[in-house]
Amino acid sequence: MKTTRREFLALAAATASAALLPVPAFGQGAAPRVVVVGGGFAGVTCARWIHQADPRIGVTLIEPDTTFTACPFSNGVVAGLRELSAQQFTYDKVAAAGISIARTAATAVDPSARTVTLADGSRRQWDRLVVAAGIDFRWGALPGYDEKAAAIMPHAWKAGEQTLLLRRQLEDMADGGLVVISAPANPFRCPPGPYERASLIAYYLKTKKPRSKLIILDAKDQFSKQRLFQQAWTELYPGLIEWVPLSKGGNVTSVDPATRTLATDFGKHQAAVANVIPPQKAGRIADAAGVADKSGWCPIDPVTFESKLVPGIHVIGDAAIAGAMPKSAFAANAQAKVCGAAVVELLRNGTPSNPKLINTCYSLVAPDYGISVAGVYVPTNGQLADVPGSGGVSPSNAPRPSRAAEAVLADAWFKTITDEVFG
Ligand SMILES: Cc1cc2nc3c(=O)[nH]c(=O)nc-3n(C[C@H](O)[C@H](O)[C@H](O)COP(=O)(O)OP(=O)(O)OC[C@H]3O[C@@H](n4cnc5c(N)ncnc54)[C@H](O)[C@@H]3O)c2cc1C
Repeated sequence: MKTTRREFLALAAATASAALLPVPAFGQGAAPRVVVVGGGFAGVTCARWIHQADPRIGVTLIEPDTTFTACPFSNGVVAGLRELSAQQFTYDKVAAAGISIARTAATAVDPSARTVTLADGSRRQWDRLVVAAGIDFRWGALPGYDEKAAAIMPHAWKAGEQTLLLRRQLEDMADGGLVVISAPANPFRCPPGPYERASLIAYYLKTKKPRSKLIILDAKDQFSKQRLFQQAWTELYPGLIEWVPLSKGGNVTSVDPATRTLATDFGKHQAAVANVIPPQKAGRIADAAGVADKSGWCPIDPVTFESKLVPGIHVIGDAAIAGAMPKSAFAANAQAKVCGAAVVELLRNGTPSNPKLINTCYSLVAPDYGISVAGVYVPTNGQLADVPGSGGVSPSNAPRPSRAAEAVLADAWFKTITDEVFG
């Protein structure tokens, strides 16, 4: 029998709440300490979840930024459809909820002493450490693309100043200009993100600079929600977007910021605006903690999100290798709850229960045109695997009111998750 999306949600919620029964008294010793590194979708959710489950556990969140700038919906900022302020959230309510926040970066981890060193040189002791540091870029992996190049050819793949830079470049571009997006190979943060970005930039160009063109140079031959995106591009932006897959010369082999040129094995593309989304890896503290493997990402146990490399350290969100689960804010939030429940259970010497996780990724192809992909995941052979027959994408050729309804759902999802995490 095929499970509906509503049933998935109920199932996941039930699984999560069953794992969060009241925690019995800890032994005679001091209250356990959990340190969470990274105050994004994963880290804040996990810190809150653990604190709510048992306020006796000392939870410290390490995060250097005083304001969090969310990536979901930031493509709308790039396209001039919303302001960056709509993406920004403070940690005031997280602190008010009883989470102790150290406003600095973690710089080192000593797994045997169970300490984390902070940028000011101080150390925090932990009984369990949760690494939720998101992504970093592999600077230099794409020849010519380093931090200096990003000031000319923005990635805008961490929201903030980079998002605004890309927007300003589009605004400054003359009508008839060429916009080039370079999309990386898997795995990377937000698989549908480059294509949502292409769509919303196309919307901007169609309405403001209709003689312009957009090329996506892709290091892949397939991408998330491909059929739906391509159908919508034909319908909404005929002749405006060209997608060049790997097999047709899409793989960018080097860039030259001086001329805003992207080179592939098949030729060169000189852009008026170049958005280079570079190869990625787990946030660099993961390396320092020894939890990242050669791939740059962090292998985890799918039941507890405990590192397969270093016991006592858990990794959640984009930094983790979560099997079939994509790197999304929705997934980060779901993983954080499962991990939080497991950490509490482990601290009371219990056995964490087998989780079921869900993910839904919405994308906007135009302000009133949304599409989505959903999945359900369970631990299988040491990885998170799709539940056969579950999940799926929005129907193809759905009527426009359904697409408009999905755009409303996308907006509601963003409000709900940011309210849950930061509100
Ligand atoms: C353009 C774009 C669109 C997207 N759209 C969607 C969408 O529609 N839906 C969706 O679900 N997802 C979307 N995503 C993906 C989503 O943004 C990420 O998957 C999500 O942010 C991952 O959460 P995280 O907590 O792992 O990392 P983050 O949210 O990046 O949080 C990591 C935090 O760790 C902190 N940190 C890093 N290193 C340290 C350190 N050493 N010490 C202390 N703190 C540290 C950072 O400052 C940051 O606050 C999108 C991404 C992009 C780029």
